Amino acid sequence: MNIPREFIELLLAKVDVVDLINTHIPLRKKSGSNYFARCPFHNEKSASFSVSQPKQFYYCFGCGAHGNAIDFMIQHDRLNFPEAVEALARLAGMEVPRDATAVKKNDALPGLHELMTKAADCYYDQMRKTKRAIDYLKQRGISGAITKQFQLGYAPAGWAYLNDQLGKTETEKKQLAEIGLIIKKNEGQGYYDRFRDRIMFPIHDYRGRLIGFGGRILDQGEPKYLNSPETPLFQKGHELYGLYQAQKQNRNLDRVILVEGYMDVIALFQHGITYAVATLGTATTTHHLERLFRYTSELIFCFDGDEAGRTAAWRALQVIFPMMNDTLQVKFLFLPDGEDPDSLVRKEDKTAFEQRFETALSLSTFFFQTLGKQSDLNTMEGRARFAASALGHIKQLPPELFQSILLNELSKRARIDLAELKSQLKSNDDTDSNVIVFTKEAAKGKAPTSLKLALALLVQQPSLANELSEALPPSQLPGYPLLLKLIEIIQQNPHINTGTLMEYWRGQKEEPTIAKLAQMEHLIPESGLKNEFLGAIRKLFGLSLNAGIDRLLAKAAQEDLSEEEKQELSRWIAKKKEDNNNQ
Ligand SMILES: [Zn+2]
Repeated sequence: MNIPREFIELLLAKVDVVDLINTHIPLRKKSGSNYFARCPFHNEKSASFSVSQPKQFYYCFGCGAHGNAIDFMIQHDRLNFPEAVEALARLAGMEVPRDATAVKKNDALPGLHELMTKAADCYYDQMRKTKRAIDYLKQRGISGAITKQFQLGYAPAGWAYLNDQLGKTETEKKQLAEIGLIIKKNEGQGYYDRFRDRIMFPIHDYRGRLIGFGGRILDQGEPKYLNSPETPLFQKGHELYGLYQAQKQNRNLDRVILVEGYMDVIALFQHGITYAVATLGTATTTHHLERLFRYTSELIFCFDGDEAGRTAAWRALQVIFPMMNDTLQVKFLFLPDGEDPDSLVRKEDKTAFEQRFETALSLSTFFFQTLGKQSDLNTMEGRARFAASALGHIKQLPPELFQSILLNELSKRARIDLAELKSQLKSNDDTDSNVIVFTKEAAKGKAPTSLKLALALLVQQPSLANELSEALPPSQLPGYPLLLKLIEIIQQNPHINTGTLMEYWRGQKEEPTIAKLAQMEHLIPESGLKNEFLGAIRKLFGLSLNAGIDRLLAKAAQEDLSEEEKQELSRWIAKKKEDNNNQ
């Protein structure tokens, strides 16, 4: 769904972040234009959570949570971006514009959800009437309470049960087919049931709406598990089985365990481990993880201990790596041969099963262990290969502590000097000239202080861009394109504030940089902001001029400059002289 930027800007202009947050947590005025409160995102006794009205931006000095009104909805109500926009629009009495086809499709969805629920009722009803199904659940040790809680059902044998029950008219048949419950016959007329003689597991989305089914065969037969196909309601790569039940059961999901099948989720749940979820027959995707990390900061992947399990775990690690940050904890639990969570939790009790989490491999241990097996660390060549492949992964991490820790560990394991690894890492990310690294070591040779200051002041007080009297010269400085882009946006929207400005980079690689700039403390008093900003810009002007002159002079030493370049060079030299005289 594409929401027009103009709408988002209108919405952010209409919603006041202070009012919005105040309806969730009481804010009190403390200093200047900032309001303070106890942070809703971490446990604390003092008030570290600040909200700025002019910036339309909140920031926690304790845990670093930050953002605009949309981010608050995302973090506080655990919504994704379109959902957050939708929720804010409702509060503001606005309607989110969408293109015509999307509207049509969405209008039909409530009806389809309802049909799904009717189907689940039918299957539940059949289960209670079918001794074979009840016996099966009993034999698998599933209690009546759990059957009810997860709405387990039974799809009878035969080809036309559901079709007869719910597909009375052609429209109803079409809808049933649209949500994947019946299938149109290849030849001739009519439809037949997709799920036959199976135990049915209704699949809910995170809001508890029914979106699909998984069906398991009772005896022998193929396929053992059958899922709903992809439909307007159901996208496998997005949904997690059990998440709805887990969040209903637990006020806070301190941790989540990710397992393979429905039966694992249900068995764990019945044994008191009510925080397990399963992917639906697909490998873990970024969508799954993004959804999960809105609920929890500790994730335990559970895999078979065999080769296939290790391969799947490595694949999951690669998905998760670019998303890792210092607040997340990820572990890999490998089960003993021939066991799955379902079988294991029945043999052990809750406590014994949870104790296994203590011995689970941390992300970093599993990472180095797996890469270490691929190279011979006793030879220099092997260690070089090991380091190169590890660096390839480590560079995807945000420049936070976790990255430093992995680099340190790599240095020890590969017996390569830490400084050398760091410079390799840096040379790798030079291509991203707009991603400014804020660690102290990386600051050298990166964006100059004056540029960083100019960027921070602009992000925090965008109106400063309106003080610029002339266009900035071209420059190769890292971070410079970002400065030009900021100025361009602000000059087109002279009244834009920090919170709205940040929307231009949502989901882009520069987003973390912009967020850091918005929070950077500069200790410049309000009255001195303009002078500091113009001073920083003047310095940049000088730096860019010098760099430009040097580049052309160096070129002139090698070859003849074009007429254009000559003119440019003399213009820059004159400009430099003029600037020097002015100082
Ligand atoms: Zn906080």
